[in-house]
Amino acid sequence: MALIEKYSTYIFGIDLGTSNSAIAVYHKGRAEILKVDDGRYTLPSVVSVLDVETTLVGKQARSRMLVDPNNTVASIKREIGKLGEDGKPWNKEFPNRPERSYSATDISAFILTKLVMGAQQSSMDILQGTPRYAVICIPANFDDNQKNATIDAAKLAGLEVVSLIEEPVAAAIAYALEKDRDQTILIYDLGGGTFDVSLLRVDSTGEGLASFKILGKEGVQKLGGDDFDLEIMKIASAKFQESSEIDIFDLKKDQGGGVSPKALREAQQKLKEKAEIAKCELSQSQKALIEIPSLLKDGDGKVHNLEIEIDRSEFNDAIRPLLLQSKEAVERAIAAAKLTIEDISRIILVGGSTRVPLVREMLTEMFGKEPYSDIDPDTVVAAGAASFAATLSVPDDPDVQPQLDSSLVIDNLVTLNLGIEVRDRRFNLIIAKGLEIPADVPLSMSKEYSTQRDNQTEIRITVYQSSDTKEFIYEEGVTCIGEFLITKIPPKPKGAEKITITFELDQQNLLKVKAESSSGVGGALEIKRS
Ligand code: AMP
Repeated sequence: MALIEKYSTYIFGIDLGTSNSAIAVYHKGRAEILKVDDGRYTLPSVVSVLDVETTLVGKQARSRMLVDPNNTVASIKREIGKLGEDGKPWNKEFPNRPERSYSATDISAFILTKLVMGAQQSSMDILQGTPRYAVICIPANFDDNQKNATIDAAKLAGLEVVSLIEEPVAAAIAYALEKDRDQTILIYDLGGGTFDVSLLRVDSTGEGLASFKILGKEGVQKLGGDDFDLEIMKIASAKFQESSEIDIFDLKKDQGGGVSPKALREAQQKLKEKAEIAKCELSQSQKALIEIPSLLKDGDGKVHNLEIEIDRSEFNDAIRPLLLQSKEAVERAIAAAKLTIEDISRIILVGGSTRVPLVREMLTEMFGKEPYSDIDPDTVVAAGAASFAATLSVPDDPDVQPQLDSSLVIDNLVTLNLGIEVRDRRFNLIIAKGLEIPADVPLSMSKEYSTQRDNQTEIRITVYQSSDTKEFIYEEGVTCIGEFLITKIPPKPKGAEKITITFELDQQNLLKVKAESSSGVGGALEIKRS
């Protein structure tokens, strides 16, 4: 007899993080973070292939990063839905499992599977079945390919994504459900690799109801804890060079004693792990010691140890220019939302790197008040996603869009510029990033174009998106998201036929593109921008 699987009725809130992930459900009136990794509430987002059958995920995998880096992958979120340098989707081959290669989606699916299994093992009494439905958090700047790849990863892990939610919105929900409503909140999110700042307005709309309106978003694509680690590595390496005359970052130069590039690479790896530990220690203490016995062996067989001390002020000086970039992004976000520093009622911290004391000092100085610190920056996003998930109802038919309960209303902003290609391969903007998408009606924008040639009977409409303002469609960061052809245009002189293109974007990120020509021919396209 076939065993029928019983599904849990909860919709899970999942934070699939660059460095760490977490899963939560809304249970007995509050978000509950579920234990996932050997009793821990967060799971390092690291995957290591041990052999043909065994894949480790989490802390065990992270501890293999150094001993077996070729079979171990971290920070996969940076690759998901993106093309590699060779223009092909990112792919990883593990020497321990040579028969196939793995995409970033496959590797993210391993992390999601482990989250789900861990939650199931630790919390069966609450869940009462296998997790099936999920709300997954994504960074505010994810494009469609990245979003779709995240949904595909969930599918591979046996999950049905009922909604994606932007990480800062999830954080604001977690905060606003615990605290007072009617506030303008700034979410400062500094993780391992990216920085995002978001401004949200929370208003109570009646009994127990709240509305969330995103007022602005900004970010720095490559800024986070990894950069801080690198600064510590540079400090340590300079100190090491003073005593050994070996520059561990210089793989090419003929180093004193003839150190092999392999030995230098291994030394960098060892230093990287210790640098992160030292960084976390500096969040607690004024000094951190980095000790690495036999860091490397030179060509003469001499073993070099590393033993150095770093103090917090030295670290602060090194990371100050980096934090300044985040400060500038905060200022840009506030200015773009036409707000002032005084309008911000609360600053909420998200992401492990906000534990760095200089981050808090900088924000306290900037706003004249301390950031709110009662919420765990590692799990706040999963908690908010679970609270949001509780307002959605599970669809009977997985193809049907889930219904949004009215207790949380999110007025969202367009996150990317949307437009079409026009003459000379130019990007012509139709819906601009930053516009508001109302909760109840789609945002609709139209533009008129005309034929370029005499007797033109066909026009190809190619739809593009980009995160920044771009002039040409071949520039970096511009992605094609769909196209269609209008045919049977009656032959007329150049410019005589007018074509109106309308873009309609709703809060579920469904983009409808419609083209209508003055003589009545046209076409349409629907792009699910999940
Ligand atoms: P996240 O992507 O939010 O999980 O953040 C991960 C980043 O936070 C990594 O770069 C960690 O090294 C960093 N991090 C975690 N804990 C601390 C800490 N106590 N002090 C400084 N950085 C930390």
